[in-house]
Amino acid sequence: MTDVELAWAAGLFEGEGSFKLWNGRYTTMVLSMTDKDVVERFARIVEVGTIRRRTPQQEGWKEQWVWNISAHEHVRDLTTQFLPFLGERRAARAREVLEAIAANQARVTEPVDCAWCGDSFTPSKFHVGRARFCTRYCQQEWFKRKRRKPCAA
Ligand SMILES: [Zn+2]
Repeated sequence: MTDVELAWAAGLFEGEGSFKLWNGRYTTMVLSMTDKDVVERFARIVEVGTIRRRTPQQEGWKEQWVWNISAHEHVRDLTTQFLPFLGERRAARAREVLEAIAANQARVTEPVDCAWCGDSFTPSKFHVGRARFCTRYCQQEWFKRKRRKPCAA
């Protein structure tokens, strides 16, 4: 994308888009408008994301076209590109999103101690939620004993 396209896309996102952050972990960028051609142009320029049509919830409402991305790499790359163009409020939000992504990535590559056997292990990149057990066995044992630690012997 050219600098002009980037500036246009960032400006549009500032006005019509938003960042969503759940649990401090899951991030999404959403852009929602009634003008299909504008949303399509945005998607073409940023080269990521999918567009879906949102049916009007009430009679008389216009249909909306919703673009979104949630893959961490995509959100991180696009947010970083948009950042210099964003106003104070949206830039603060963008930085919050980037920090959450960085923290999340640090979390999955750092070894942690298994909550059951105590062995150190490195959670899988694809692990959803906070990894606490090195194996499924440890997880099952932990739940079975209702959170009591095994005896030291
Ligand atoms: Zn274990």
